[in-house]
Amino acid sequence: MANMINVFQPALGERELAAVREVFESNWIGRGARTDEFETGFARHLGVGRQHVTSTNSCTEATFIAMELAGVGLGDEVVLPTVAFVGSGNAIAASGARPVFCDVDPRTLNPTVAHVEAVLTPRTKAVLILHYGGYPGDVVAIADLCAERGILLIEDAAIAIASRVDGRPCGTFGDMGVWSFDHGKIVVTVDGGMLYVRDPELAARAPKLAYLGMEQKSGYDQALRARTRWWDFEVTSFSRRSVTNDVLAAVGNVQLSRLPEFIARRREIARRYDEGLAGLDGLLCPPPLPAGHESSYYMYWVQFEGGVRDEVARDLYERGIYSTFRYPLLHQVAAYGSEAVLPGAEAAAAATLLLPMHQALTDADVDRVIEAVRDRVSGRRRERILALKAV
Ligand SMILES: *Cc1c(COP(=O)(O)O)cnc(C)c1O
Repeated sequence: MANMINVFQPALGERELAAVREVFESNWIGRGARTDEFETGFARHLGVGRQHVTSTNSCTEATFIAMELAGVGLGDEVVLPTVAFVGSGNAIAASGARPVFCDVDPRTLNPTVAHVEAVLTPRTKAVLILHYGGYPGDVVAIADLCAERGILLIEDAAIAIASRVDGRPCGTFGDMGVWSFDHGKIVVTVDGGMLYVRDPELAARAPKLAYLGMEQKSGYDQALRARTRWWDFEVTSFSRRSVTNDVLAAVGNVQLSRLPEFIARRREIARRYDEGLAGLDGLLCPPPLPAGHESSYYMYWVQFEGGVRDEVARDLYERGIYSTFRYPLLHQVAAYGSEAVLPGAEAAAAATLLLPMHQALTDADVDRVIEAVRDRVSGRRRERILALKAV
């Protein structure tokens, strides 16, 4: 359908194209200066040392590397909310550890510290949380709990690139954090990810795990001076190839410089939705952010009472508006073998719908979505009143 409004959409333009052209013309498209610049820029954005971050070709790869650095494996349990990305579940299961799913608050879709604590056992080696919709959630209390119990905390900050609590960036509260720059995220490199590792020794291993576990014996210049070969290497782990390249990093450098502008626009859109959808019977907007919390406004989600969510989604589609739900509950995915019953998440997953949210939306687009939801919800209300009168 022409003129459809997307749920997620990247904001890529002439500046990104010019940066790519420059890389093409340099004849060096692999990992190089642009990638270094991207890692340095991202570390600066987080306020951490450059040596603590490693770029990857996806956030999922970064999560796999995080599991390896965490040393989780057979006999271990890793706790994660059931409202989580499938790549997180896979990274845990592939390590040999057992994914243990915890419930979430039905309004924020984030786990509280109590939800996490309820499923800890002596076998829990790590906890992995995400920041739903870009809302930081209970990350401070969960980080404290993990530190107290000697459990590693890994933050999936894929959609929390600008989320903070009291000025501290999400992704840096735990031992490791991962971010995504895939086609649907806020800062886009087409595909890509980033890994933050707090411990300096573990952090130093990350780039090796991201590149075949290879260790070059000496650099070009050094080998020339010593009259040895520069192509000899050792293998320190049987790793995959998870690195990114200068073409994608060049896009990332431009995108990262535009992040404040992206977040400001997203905040405006969230306000417009909040105002336009306020006070509607049977519809809940996202709960207000607690004091000191900043969101990336990656998602704008609404919740419908009365089991009409799926109908509304189909209705919106007919009016040229895409909507969706993230993230389908992992404890209900057969492959993970969970038998948990998680009522908060199950209620949320049945009622929640993500409305279009991206920085390219115009005010007119947002108003079109608001009008469609309002029509639908007030229409329901009328039907219900008529039905009541008929009884
Ligand atoms: C998109 C996403 C990921 C995965 O990112 P990729 O770069 O596509 O691997 C992980 N976690 C969350 C919460 C996401 O939304």
